[in-house]
Amino acid sequence: MALLPVEEALARILTDVKPVAAEAVPLAEAPGRVLAEALKTRRDQPPFAASAMDGYAVRTADVAQAPVRLKTVGMAAAGHAFAGSVKEGQAVRIFTGAPLPRGADAVVIQENATAETGFVTINQNARHGQNVRNRGLDFKAGETLLAPGIDLNARDIGLAAAMNCATVRVRRKPLVAVIATGDELVLPGQRPRTDQIFSSNSHALAALAEHFGAKTLNLGIVADSLKATERAIAKAAAADIVVTSGGASVGDHDFVQEALKRSGVKLDFWKIAMRPGKPFMYGRRGRQRVMGLPGNPVSALVCARLFLKPLLDALLGLAGQPEPVMARLGAPMKANDSRQDYVRATLRQGPDGLRIAMPYALQDSSMQRTLRESHCLIVRLPQAPAAAEGELVPILPLDF
Ligand code: AMP
Ligand code: MG
Repeated sequence: MALLPVEEALARILTDVKPVAAEAVPLAEAPGRVLAEALKTRRDQPPFAASAMDGYAVRTADVAQAPVRLKTVGMAAAGHAFAGSVKEGQAVRIFTGAPLPRGADAVVIQENATAETGFVTINQNARHGQNVRNRGLDFKAGETLLAPGIDLNARDIGLAAAMNCATVRVRRKPLVAVIATGDELVLPGQRPRTDQIFSSNSHALAALAEHFGAKTLNLGIVADSLKATERAIAKAAAADIVVTSGGASVGDHDFVQEALKRSGVKLDFWKIAMRPGKPFMYGRRGRQRVMGLPGNPVSALVCARLFLKPLLDALLGLAGQPEPVMARLGAPMKANDSRQDYVRATLRQGPDGLRIAMPYALQDSSMQRTLRESHCLIVRLPQAPAAAEGELVPILPLDF
């Protein structure tokens, strides 16, 4: 079987993916969720002309020839408007955030005024509108301020709150079921036999899926048997995506492919032209999508980052594509073969402002420590010629 290019595998995975349904959530639960509606404001902000300083609300016509002495006729504070209006020869003591009283058209800061009982002397001329925030300065009723498809951050939440959105419609979290396969695996906390290791993929894949917006159903470890694998797949019926790790090849102990087929998954088995992570299964069962990842921890996580994340983005209706990122090579690299390489590397700041990516000498796909210590993956395109130290190369920042 010919090796499938990464881009083509991704394009096939993303064929006909539609965003999942939306749900209303209180604003406090919205950070990190993907907005499913356009948020339009029905109110001007500020809703009134407001003082930007502590001082005196005046009529600029009165203070054209400072110093002038004005009669103070009242007070306006934030949340406490002055009910009257400012007439010729008058001023109102005012504080930041208070509505500008009728009749006044500027605020003189208190540092430029001398107060006495019932009067204030304004020591400096004022411009019309000085220290006043006009009504609608920030935004105006009818404007759409947040578009669907954004991943709500603290600034978005602040703006939504300022617009009086107490609840927002966001995409529901897609459910990802995670199944680890292998007789050699036990969960952390369990007692391993001498020939066993801990299942890191169960936790890592769930953490990655949750980081990229999913809810997870961890179905634990399944023995290398057709029956056990089929039973686990049956438990994942409600999931939007089923992710398996291990058993993805066609060896004597690899049952995932057969179990998925028997469970009614229409399956493509691919060998993807990438390193790490060659054997990869992808299939569909109704609206459910299934990804069979390789078992080696680095392969599983790199494949999940390359294929599961974009699938989650599409299910979440996340708008926009990440910008390509480049860095300088910190060491020369050999010419590449036909597979796209994702080379673990650290990053440090270079003298010209660009970052320098230093690849690890050992790239075995079982080595999780270097994955953990890496900052990025250097992307080496198929057939890339040898690259010298200092050359610019594309990198994939490790963002999970
Ligand atoms: P497999 O794809 O099942 O042939 O597994 C390939 C390698 O990955 C083997 O060395 C497995 O022990 C290892 N492996 C498989 N599943 C996991 C897992 N859940 N956690 C850590 N290592 C695993
Ligand atoms: Mg296995």
